[in-house]
Amino acid sequence: MIIVLLGPPGAGKGTQAEPVAQRLGIPKIATGDVLRAAVREGTPMGKAAQGYMDRGELVPDAVILGIMKETFTRPEMARGVILDGVVRTVPQAEGLERVLGELGRQVDAVLLFEVPDDELVRRLSGRTICDRCQTPFTGREPGTPCPKCGGTLVRRKDDDPDAVRRRLRVYRDQTAPVIDWYRTNGTPLLAVDAVGSPADVTERVVRALPK
Ligand code: AMP
Repeated sequence: MIIVLLGPPGAGKGTQAEPVAQRLGIPKIATGDVLRAAVREGTPMGKAAQGYMDRGELVPDAVILGIMKETFTRPEMARGVILDGVVRTVPQAEGLERVLGELGRQVDAVLLFEVPDDELVRRLSGRTICDRCQTPFTGREPGTPCPKCGGTLVRRKDDDPDAVRRRLRVYRDQTAPVIDWYRTNGTPLLAVDAVGSPADVTERVVRALPK
């Protein structure tokens, strides 16, 4: 099963990707994690992406489609995958459909995470992320240990107020149209109320998915 997690920054896609993937017994891939690792390692892709990411803008679609093509050559993706942070533009939706079509596959469901704007800003301004396992947390201070792997919690550069405002605008302008694209294309679009404890939201997600 190939599942796209869609929703604004701060909606909890990164928090839910792992537990949902575990429940379904499939891997997850987060384009933001792949790009942040590339920036840390100073690869050509990382160097090209860093400026966009720091400003809270989207990296070019071609970079994302390159990551998708590479992802679907891996044998562990044969049973399915949770896609966290991609698709974010209509050209990405079209490109992903092409990549999957060549493999005789398709997106099976799009999960739409719904959270009011003021809650998103509250979550993002209090968010830290583990510098090792990349798990996001709300309400834990930078510099404290990651409860999951012992790494160190840090603030993301693009969680500063200016970048957050830009990312919410980018979501409205470039990512929200993807919802209609999938609706028109007939892919099951499943709305999930993403306000509540992470465990409750995981249950809602699993219940919403086709069996
Ligand atoms: P995320 O961790 O999903 O919030 O992504 C962090 C940043 O990585 C975004 O603000 C973008 O700059 C970049 N990024 C991640 N996924 C994509 C994507 N599918 N398309 C364009 N840019 C992306």
